[in-house]
Amino acid sequence: MATVDLEKVCKRFGSLEVVHAVDLSIAEGEFVVLVGPSGCGKSTLLRMVAGLEKMSGGHIRIGADAVDHLPPRDRDIAMVFQNYALYPHMTVAANMGFGLRLRKTPRTEIDKRVATAAAILGLEDLLDRHPRALSGGQRQRVAMGRAIVRDPQVFLFDEPLSNLDAKLRVQMRTEIKALQKRLGTTSIYVTHDQVEAMTMADRIVVMRQGRIEQIGAPLALYEKPANLFVAGFIGSPSMNFVQGVLGSEKGRRALRTDDGVVLPLPQACPGEDGHRVVCGIRPEHLTVCGEGDADAFAIELNLIEPTGSQTFAFAEAGAQKLCLIAADPRALPPGGRVHVKADPSRIHIFDADSGAVLQ
Ligand code: ADP
Ligand code: MG
Repeated sequence: MATVDLEKVCKRFGSLEVVHAVDLSIAEGEFVVLVGPSGCGKSTLLRMVAGLEKMSGGHIRIGADAVDHLPPRDRDIAMVFQNYALYPHMTVAANMGFGLRLRKTPRTEIDKRVATAAAILGLEDLLDRHPRALSGGQRQRVAMGRAIVRDPQVFLFDEPLSNLDAKLRVQMRTEIKALQKRLGTTSIYVTHDQVEAMTMADRIVVMRQGRIEQIGAPLALYEKPANLFVAGFIGSPSMNFVQGVLGSEKGRRALRTDDGVVLPLPQACPGEDGHRVVCGIRPEHLTVCGEGDADAFAIELNLIEPTGSQTFAFAEAGAQKLCLIAADPRALPPGGRVHVKADPSRIHIFDADSGAVLQ
């Protein structure tokens, strides 16, 4: 267990800067997930922590030690990659013990650690197999085992579940999280999947184009996104955005879109009249209501998608596309014009130019 501190960490490939002065402090034992769209610099940042990629500027400390100039093998980290990088000609046991063998760890110690890790991961019966005789999930566990036997200060994961099918991904993410809590090893986990980030992280770091957009606990990001990017990235289906101008209608605050849709807003809603804003409402915070409801606005329901546990509805208000979620499909009429309202405490208002949330 150790802290990890990044200070103004940059990366340039030639003249192109892909990571811009990133500051990040990770506590001992914390599980931090770096999430963002493909190409935003997550792997590059992780590889700089590992020492696999040279920094173009800044400093990294693991515990009290500056590791800026240390090669990967001296950083006391263990990394799990997307493709597992198992040696095909070695057994599971040899794959797991390989890193220790390179470090000249005594044979008995290697055997002991491999046995312990195999027990933790449920791999005891597979130790003599070769990777080609394992399922995807088992290979993933072996890659985890290889990291665990090292007993490092920090685990680094780069999209370790991307090669698994959907069901196994859900199972493995629970396993990895439980394992991390059990071992208490500081972990940095990279994914492009916001659900993985939400379910696994103590804290999420949302990245875009080589910069950190927001850092926070999963629910904090969900409930209080700092800007339009985070609001749209976290949560599935994505938050609905309605652009318009703040003002009042019939004596109460409202948003008026360019094509004349009026969205009632709470009295305490931030922003001044005349301000161009984007109003954000999550699909799960819209409910069908009566036309007479003071917060009601009309939508045209186009499509209903029941999934069993939830039902999605796709609708339009003027030119604006909206998505709604209902737990009970019977709460949704089959289609046509209906009235809905937004939970007033769950409406987000963003500046239309900067994208920053208004408070
Ligand atoms: P992510 O892991 O978030 O998908 P990466 O860290 O792999 O993103 O890449 C960040 C950016 O850096 C991308 O634009 C990518 O094309 C670029 N990049 C990554 N590695 C190299 C490299 N070796 N040479 C040039 N550009 C690179
Ligand atoms: Mg990557």
